Amino acid sequence: MSAQSGGPPILAVEHLSKSFRGLAAIADVSFAIVPGSITSIIGPNGAGKSTLFNLVTGYLVPTAGAVTFRGRTITRLATNRIAELGIARAFQIARPFRELTVSENVRIGALFGKAGPRDVAATTARAMTLASIAHLAEQPANSLTVGQLRHLEIARAIATRADLLLADEPCAGLNPTETAAMIDVLRQVRSSGVTVVLVEHDMPSVMEVSDRILVLDAGRLIADGTPQAVSQDPKVVAAYLGTPDA
Ligand code: ADP
Ligand code: MG
Repeated sequence: MSAQSGGPPILAVEHLSKSFRGLAAIADVSFAIVPGSITSIIGPNGAGKSTLFNLVTGYLVPTAGAVTFRGRTITRLATNRIAELGIARAFQIARPFRELTVSENVRIGALFGKAGPRDVAATTARAMTLASIAHLAEQPANSLTVGQLRHLEIARAIATRADLLLADEPCAGLNPTETAAMIDVLRQVRSSGVTVVLVEHDMPSVMEVSDRILVLDAGRLIADGTPQAVSQDPKVVAAYLGTPDA
């Protein structure tokens, strides 16, 4: 883990639950995220990964439990208030303003997001550099490939000056080269001081980039540890990774 680790958690989830008409999508989940880390959340489809992101970002209100960000309870705050505190989410389906350029789209992130003073031009330029799309600054968003759109989505999120980035399957549908480029960007983001929580299915990437892995299965947290520990956990192997010979 990086040198910035240690000290109080940036994000803490305590006994968090969310039910949809009796179905527990998230069931009594607790964990804390160390600043300066990359944590991956893995688990089968329907395990509750996106629901967890929706609870942290205020898109959903939990049935029970609490979310704290830098020691402050954010459980019932509106999504825009949570964004103003410094949590950003990169969506898998990026919806940029297609007629605007890359830099104009990223600038929108810099105009909104975390509260406080900002240099919009410098923030926009820095976010594009971090996401490796500075060379595309003047391209219209509608000319980008799927992989480039994912980078734009990361840049837009980073431009909000967030301290915590939640990325939901940023590598889904990308080829191996594009996947490696995205993993590289996530590392750059971490190096810049932003804490990253990642939902990702590509196991080699997850194993390579994560300081820590949380495993969800049917709404429950069944494992929490280093990539090494989690990949050898029999519960995880049974629930998600398949048999070692598979
Ligand atoms: P994952 O992202 O891990 O694939 P989700 O968090 O999307 O899983 O879904 C977890 C469970 O909650 C699934 O059974 C899903 O059908 C259900 N669910 C998610 N969102 C809603 C919703 N808005 N209304 C009803 N059920 C939902
Ligand atoms: Mg999901």
